Amino acid sequence: MILVTGGAGYIGSHTCIELLNNNFDVLVVDSLDNSSPEALKRVEEITGKSLTFIEGDVRDATLMASLFKDYPINAVIHFAGLKAVGESVAEPLMYYNNNLISTLILCEAMKNASIKNLVFSSSATVYGDPQTLPLTEDMPLSATNPYGRSKLIIEEMLRDLPAADALANGDNNWQVALLRYFNPVGAHPSGKIGEDPSDIPNNLMPFITQTAVGRRKQLAVFGDDYDTIDGTGVRDYIHVVDLAKGHVKAVEKLLSAEGIDGVQAYNLGTGNGVSVLQMVNSFAKENSIEVPYQIVERRPGDVAACYADVTRAQKELNWQAELGLKEMVQDSWNWQSQNPRGYR
Ligand code: NAD
Ligand code: UDP
Repeated sequence: MILVTGGAGYIGSHTCIELLNNNFDVLVVDSLDNSSPEALKRVEEITGKSLTFIEGDVRDATLMASLFKDYPINAVIHFAGLKAVGESVAEPLMYYNNNLISTLILCEAMKNASIKNLVFSSSATVYGDPQTLPLTEDMPLSATNPYGRSKLIIEEMLRDLPAADALANGDNNWQVALLRYFNPVGAHPSGKIGEDPSDIPNNLMPFITQTAVGRRKQLAVFGDDYDTIDGTGVRDYIHVVDLAKGHVKAVEKLLSAEGIDGVQAYNLGTGNGVSVLQMVNSFAKENSIEVPYQIVERRPGDVAACYADVTRAQKELNWQAELGLKEMVQDSWNWQSQNPRGYR
């Protein structure tokens, strides 16, 4: 059984589908702070399989200990956490409290239960302002905001676990995959589950879809004077279904005889850079719908371009993204147009 923390969220719900489709039993723990139980109902509808859901906070040590006692868990995927960069600047303590303490409590419960197979949701934000592209996993790491710093601190904390284990037991049993996501977009092709931000979206794709559906007047394009193909920011967008499949590959690797040697980071992206205007134009063309936009000032803290070298994930996880820009924009719109107000 796979314990999925934050499994009711955007990436978590898509990952539950892929886990169930690959015959894993799934146990979700989620506080529903930023998600709806409806997402998990729809996961069951889509797959025709059931999962176990416990509503609760990963920072609750008693709850976490009981899960490892009551269920035959053999690996954990840890999605639970807060993820809005701007909010993290305004509320750093809330971000450190949730992201750091949840991971700490989870790892203590794992250690006590001797279940040491972990897949952690990291982010391309740990590369800071990239000096060279594409980004490989061994490039220098830095953070430009409290959200990114929380991911960086967690990565470092996790890197300390194998050595401590070896010291205590003469051998290390921790296997940790740090999955550094680039920019997740898209939705399940059924249109039943997708990204449902509770506030005004910070990210590009939900802003585009909410504009297209009439919830926002127009998209603000943050800067057209970057040194990129058309002056707008370039990112490595990855379809959330591909990303979800990457988690299944990581879990399979952890549970295989070969395993992972201690802690290993993997970039999950497509390796392709796409500009804001390329994304907007592709969305408009493939869905035959206008997306009004206006060029405005750069957003503070944004980098010009960021995209992945995905060789390590290809070689070691036997994973690569299969879906392109067309599926990303079509599936995002399929979800938003069928669910104009998300799960509400
Ligand atoms: P999301 O907000 O949709 O999902 C996170 C889930 O965790 C939510 O369902 C929320 O209710 C739950 N949660 C939060 N704190 C919790 C706690 N203490 N205990 C239990 N549940 C808790 O976010 P997402 O986009 O699915 O992201 C999942 C993970 O991936 C996060 O760790 C995020 O930082 C990371 N990530 C996301 C992106 C992105 O662009 N979406 C990019 C890189 C990394
Ligand atoms: N962006 C934009 N308008 C928006 C949101 C984002 O122009 O309303 C741009 C942003 O400047 C960046 C790209 O879209 O170049 C991706 O931004 P997002 O916040 O989705 O991801 P991140 O910057 O964290 O990679």
